Amino acid sequence: MCAAKPNRQYTATGKDQRRNNSWQVPSSSSSATFTPKHTSAPVNYGVPVAKPKPTSVPRSAPMAAAAHVPSVSGIPNNVVRFVCISDTHNKTGCLPFPIPDGDVLLHGGDFTIKGKLHEAQVFNDWLGQLPHKHKVVIAGNHDRLFDKNFWQVPADPKRVLTNATYLQDEHTTIYGIKIYGAPWTPEYRDLAFNVPRGLPCLQKWSLIPENTDIVMTHGPPWGQGDFTKGKKHVGCEALLAVIQNKVIPKYHVFGHIHEGYGVTGNGKTVFVNAAMCNIHYKPVNPPIVFDLPLPHGFSKNVC
Ligand SMILES: [Zn+2]
Repeated sequence: MCAAKPNRQYTATGKDQRRNNSWQVPSSSSSATFTPKHTSAPVNYGVPVAKPKPTSVPRSAPMAAAAHVPSVSGIPNNVVRFVCISDTHNKTGCLPFPIPDGDVLLHGGDFTIKGKLHEAQVFNDWLGQLPHKHKVVIAGNHDRLFDKNFWQVPADPKRVLTNATYLQDEHTTIYGIKIYGAPWTPEYRDLAFNVPRGLPCLQKWSLIPENTDIVMTHGPPWGQGDFTKGKKHVGCEALLAVIQNKVIPKYHVFGHIHEGYGVTGNGKTVFVNAAMCNIHYKPVNPPIVFDLPLPHGFSKNVC
């Protein structure tokens, strides 16, 4: 039983993936249409859980030579299309595929490598060229410029990332869809936004409101998109407990574990590891796309 076995289709229309160079989660009038192959065991925080078999990692799509941005087309008015990317690590200028169009672009952090201001500025300029009406970004463990533990006066994300909505322990609502974002990952090599495992992590995740539709964190929860080349699950146990037992969002989008790229699920939440770079920091994984139904009473013509 493995989770990520391509319970997905290449595009919303079932056309060849190589045309769009993106993975499309099965259409989604609701996440109920996604039928994952396994269910993760519920977790009691602090109590070791039975380890599921490693999730299989979907292979990346064939590369295309193109580097153009597709034009706006084909997004029905009654859905909101999300395009998920993460861990671009300064490689936005040399992606081997275009970023598909959508209503909302989600970036799961690690847009830099060294966490310098000029890296973030280049990323922001790139964001400004994309056609998505809404762009939501969180930081990752490489993005030191925003972490006050690294700088007495960290850079102000809202001034640097002027072409996106930056979330840090806060939410935004787009077309009635509530999106929460947080950069924290369990301590590893003294990088940015690191938090010790256990209670400190749990305290961060406890801030996520229960009625959140999409959770964005830089790191994965334990057991979902977190299997490393060292053949270990390294996701956050406390995050899994909160996502699975309290928040139960429709989608949980993250990156961080480059080897964990792909889509998994537990029957209630679809987990999207959108890391574009592989472990050698080469951008080889295409964006992952999903649709949510436009909530009743909202129009995409009005913010
Ligand atoms: Zn990364």
